[in-house]
Amino acid sequence: MKSTGKVTGIVSNLVTVLTDGPVSQNEICYIDCEGTKLMAEVIKVNGKSAAVQVFESTRGLKNGNTVEFEDRMLEVSLGPGLLSSSYDGLQNDLTTMTGVFLKRGEYTDPLNHEKLWDFTPIAKPGDKVAAADWLGEVKEGWLPHKIMVPFSFKGEFTVKSIVPAGQYNIDTAVAVLTNAEGEDVNVTMVQKWPVKVAIKGYREKPRPSRIMETGVRVIDTLNPIAEGGTGFIPGPFGCGKTVLQHAIAKQGDAEVIVMAACGERANEVVEIFTEFPELIDPHTGRHLMERTTIICNTSNMPVAAREASVYTAMTICEYYRAMGMKVLLLADSTSRWAQALREMSNRMEELPGADAFPVDLSSIISSFYARAGMVVLNNGQTGSVTFIGTVSPAGGNLKEPVTESTKKAARCFYALEQNRADKKRYPAVNPIDSYSKYLEYPEIREYLSEKVTPGWVEMVEKTKNVIRKGRDAQEQINILGDDGVPMTYHELFWKSELVDFVILQQDAFDAIDSVTPMDRQEYMLRLVLDICDREFKFEDFEQCRNYFKELINILKQMNYSEFHGESFNKFQDQLNNLLSNGK
Ligand code: ADP
Ligand code: MG
Repeated sequence: MKSTGKVTGIVSNLVTVLTDGPVSQNEICYIDCEGTKLMAEVIKVNGKSAAVQVFESTRGLKNGNTVEFEDRMLEVSLGPGLLSSSYDGLQNDLTTMTGVFLKRGEYTDPLNHEKLWDFTPIAKPGDKVAAADWLGEVKEGWLPHKIMVPFSFKGEFTVKSIVPAGQYNIDTAVAVLTNAEGEDVNVTMVQKWPVKVAIKGYREKPRPSRIMETGVRVIDTLNPIAEGGTGFIPGPFGCGKTVLQHAIAKQGDAEVIVMAACGERANEVVEIFTEFPELIDPHTGRHLMERTTIICNTSNMPVAAREASVYTAMTICEYYRAMGMKVLLLADSTSRWAQALREMSNRMEELPGADAFPVDLSSIISSFYARAGMVVLNNGQTGSVTFIGTVSPAGGNLKEPVTESTKKAARCFYALEQNRADKKRYPAVNPIDSYSKYLEYPEIREYLSEKVTPGWVEMVEKTKNVIRKGRDAQEQINILGDDGVPMTYHELFWKSELVDFVILQQDAFDAIDSVTPMDRQEYMLRLVLDICDREFKFEDFEQCRNYFKELINILKQMNYSEFHGESFNKFQDQLNNLLSNGK
């Protein structure tokens, strides 16, 4: 039953409506405004009065205007064609428009209904199926896109018929299923799902047990993220959050990438539209966009659309995970999303929590992060959503509510430091404050010792110790002066500089240095640790400094050259020479 109503009050985008029937929380409605229909979402119901959040400007809206409730929540359309598309938070197609913004009251269809897809059946008549089971497959780019029993289907069905292999559009009924009551239902290639509800339809969700390689050394070597894991990157403006996320998007070991770009200014998200389509996928040599969906919004978009965008992105991720794919979701920056939550809760005149964020900010963030994960599908195959979000705390204050709440929810923490960014030590990840809780999982430690080398986690611990000791030594040198400390302090400091320059610092814009495969990360770390294990006998600190500068120089060049090749061998010879000649 669809209800209707009349506008009784307007405060910016928050509109109160007197309803003539039942409406439910998060239900979608359309408000008539000077002939255009404005989309809105119910955010509070009190008797016959409903508060709705309009997704657009309410300019010209009057008391008494009619409202039609839809009896459905905000949904995303799921089907082939999502990849290589760019949408706003409400899944309006941004690529079919001239600018980044739509006219008020205008909504576009997210999927192409004419395009024909090469369909191959997987299920056959007589098969018993349930929600999320695979019925067939189309090639989306080069990825096998599964056509599934819609996630909203409850109970068991029998496949009555399925179309033969051939070309069909997304609205074709590719399968007819019979439910337990003997009724037939058609399944097309497109289904809808409410964005704020996690997609289920899998057997279990075990703890992550594998690493997702990113090619970024501060992540993979020092604090690896698990496939199906969660991480976050807090950092002040200009410290390299976006560059780091783009590097992970480009290089991460995932099949599908979803980028949720929540920008402060329009130019921050325009960046993604100009840069991303140009990027070449190092795994396939094709355009990265072929396996990417971009969800974008800016601060001048309405608050509800901004709030919805990360959910839309997550829902698309869960859809591809149900096909057994490795999906990577990157959101930049989740602080903009939290700001949208704050704006909404303030307008509702709810009792505010810290810094005027909603009282339940922590639980909203946690339940969002909890949607990531590795799952075992009903057919025994696995799929995963790995999620990394950035946080942009005002003034770099890591004690603010969004950072604190995210810290509780995410298992990896990559803290970008103003100080390192100022010194151009990129990626400016603080090696001591950052962490990966996955390193504590026995299954991850086992995986690393098998996949990389036995004793790897111990090597990583040792590396972090070198950095810590180097920091302490540096402090003493700063206080007491170069000549006021024993030689060993200089040696400790320079050993940590060696780790910093060779392992931590990585040029995101160099073709070779930007992505370091795991075997190379292991090789370089061994070289560096071997040097850190040596005891040198320097006569004075200048000799120590010059010696290490030379070492750093050679090792850095090795990062910039092909792993196996003439120049790499040449640098290795130089290194061996320097080491065997002592100082
Ligand atoms: P944020 O998103 O935190 O505001 P950006 O990601 O836009 O910051 O980075 C700001 C600038 O820092 C970049 O334009 C680039 O010049 C530099 N930078 C950041 N990371 C790297 C890196 N890994 N290698 C080289 N330059 C970097
Ligand atoms: Mg940025």
